Amino acid sequence: MTERKVLIVYAHQEPKSLNGSLKTIAVEELSKQGCRVTVSDLYEMQFEPRTTRKDIVGELYHPEQFNYGVEAWEACKNGSLSEDLIKEQRKVKEADLVIFQFPLYWFSMPAIMKGWMDRVLVQGFAHDFPQCYDSGLLKNKLALLSFTTGGGKEMYSDEGVSGDIRYLLWPMQHGIMHFCGFSVLAPQICFAPEYATEEERVQMLVSWGERLKTIWEEKPINCAVDGYFK
Ligand SMILES: Cc1cc2nc3c(=O)[nH]c(=O)nc-3n(C[C@H](O)[C@H](O)[C@H](O)COP(=O)(O)OP(=O)(O)OC[C@H]3O[C@@H](n4cnc5c(N)ncnc54)[C@H](O)[C@@H]3O)c2cc1C
Repeated sequence: MTERKVLIVYAHQEPKSLNGSLKTIAVEELSKQGCRVTVSDLYEMQFEPRTTRKDIVGELYHPEQFNYGVEAWEACKNGSLSEDLIKEQRKVKEADLVIFQFPLYWFSMPAIMKGWMDRVLVQGFAHDFPQCYDSGLLKNKLALLSFTTGGGKEMYSDEGVSGDIRYLLWPMQHGIMHFCGFSVLAPQICFAPEYATEEERVQMLVSWGERLKTIWEEKPINCAVDGYFK
């Protein structure tokens, strides 16, 4: 069997955090399975989240008026994206599964991870027109969002004050992952670890490790418009 490759894009400042522990468990379990695991530790790398002129090396396509999307697309075609982006794109290209590990910030991912999405998943690399959604350029790859929350599970239900968790997952799972062609696995959510007991936190980590043992047998969730909220 060919070696499976996993990229973990990880956004937490503190290695001793629950996110840090979840990342470590994933590295250990997947490595034990014989997978090649690469971690992009965004804070440690001081990953630049801003989309700027610096992302394009050399001449611009339209120097008279800067349009990031157009310039990044052209630079992607010409191999003139900045080295840090090319490095991340290489990791994505090699990966069979990409795990995003992060704490929920404002119903979304931390800015440093959103910046990774903005800068790495550029047109021409992750999608093009009409190559998006089921025909996105990253099809045949799996993606999984693994995150922690401040709010408890009951808050993220239909009746809860924050509403159904699927509403906030929709932009990330459908708008980004599915748009780029990824098959999306069910999210791994650790609700409110800060307010949990030590045993509950340990159980969160054990469940994640257990799930990863059979991760390659999982079927993707339905991320299509007509299936997602059913
Ligand atoms: C800007 C911002 C925006 C936010 N927006 C939202 C939002 O929209 N919605 C929402 O719900 N929340 C929100 N939050 C809260 C945030 O999501 C949580 O604080 C975060 O998810 C908690 O995860 P953590 O890894 O940082 O927890 P930590 O506090 O690092 O970890 C929790 C506990 O687990 C312990 N731990 C770590 N490893 C282990 C281990 N191996 N075994 C046992 N215990 C361990 C840690 O020591 C700690 O005591 C926001 C926070 C910020 C800063």
